[in-house]
Amino acid sequence: MEEFDNGLEKKWDYDMKTPIHSEVPVEKLKKFLKSEDVLIFYGGEPLIMLDKIKKIIDNVDCRFMIQTNGMLLDKIPKNYLMKLEKMLVSIDGTKEKDSSTKGPTHYDKIISNLKEIRSKGYKGEIVARMVITEGDVYEQVMHLVELINKGFFDSVHWQIDAGFYKNDFDLEKFSKFVKEYNDSIDELLDFWIREIEKSVAIPSHSAPGTRTPNEVSEKNRRVWKFYPFLGILARLMGWDNNKKLPCGAGHSNFSINTKGDLSACPIMNSVKNLYCGDIEKGITREREISGCNTCKYLKVCGGRCLYWREAKLWPKEGDDLICETIKHLIDGIREKVVPKVKQFLESGKVKKEDFDFEKYFGPEIIP
Ligand code: SF4
Repeated sequence: MEEFDNGLEKKWDYDMKTPIHSEVPVEKLKKFLKSEDVLIFYGGEPLIMLDKIKKIIDNVDCRFMIQTNGMLLDKIPKNYLMKLEKMLVSIDGTKEKDSSTKGPTHYDKIISNLKEIRSKGYKGEIVARMVITEGDVYEQVMHLVELINKGFFDSVHWQIDAGFYKNDFDLEKFSKFVKEYNDSIDELLDFWIREIEKSVAIPSHSAPGTRTPNEVSEKNRRVWKFYPFLGILARLMGWDNNKKLPCGAGHSNFSINTKGDLSACPIMNSVKNLYCGDIEKGITREREISGCNTCKYLKVCGGRCLYWREAKLWPKEGDDLICETIKHLIDGIREKVVPKVKQFLESGKVKKEDFDFEKYFGPEIIP
């Protein structure tokens, strides 16, 4: 309740006519979306509106993905499940950690649901979507790696829960978190590059009849799909030359609210002065980040988050600490990862495609 007093109502003209549940006619959606577009079901929790999702899938010709807390995944009939190309499922790390943020039943329920959808034959990418509030990102990601090894997930994305609420800033606590987080990122980068090194290592000799070294490396090549690493690496390597927000908000990615207005992203939907069009008129304006123009990291970082930059809910010292984590991560990838990846590419031990990832479907890239 404290958050009602965050001051945003003074600068943002909230659209109080926005209904709670989507009233967007499927016919209009059908006209608005082209077959190559991606529609991401998002909430709240989108799966509580499963009937509407089914109706949209039945009638609209485009690609479909979903961001969900995972609790109702077992309720999706198989024919609709198979239409969802990719999904982001919330999980905040170990069972203990996840229970502290998502409640005591979430972890077991989503693991059982993921088991069920895999047993139904679901092969689409499932991203473990984690929010870091405190604690050790390395330990939590390592747990998610175990879950990848068990076949539940394919990839990981994490976001630091910082700068999104006015009343949760604590300088001492967040300064301590930043130090621990940065150390933990270093460990994670070491793990990531070590895993690639291990997987492409050519054995000193092969027993007769075994696969040739090249076949071995081809088969076992392992680049863990950690979205923050892949997205930043792509920009540093020149594979992604877009300098704007790597989440796509406001230029490649727009949110449709429950009455059909478009916003740059779901977190700032239904604000009249921030609308970017509607599903009848289409996209009438794009949104750009402000406040980062003098930063030399801008081309890679893109500005982290439009909502965070515009809402300005934390004081400057808090925002500076958030930027410290971003700069540390970008520097780490530039210094530790890029030279190694270049070496591997030159030697033919990895291919550029090993670092491919789906852009703009939920992972913000910059945590
Ligand atoms: S590091 Fe901070 S100041 Fe620099 S571009 Fe990113 S968000 Fe903006």
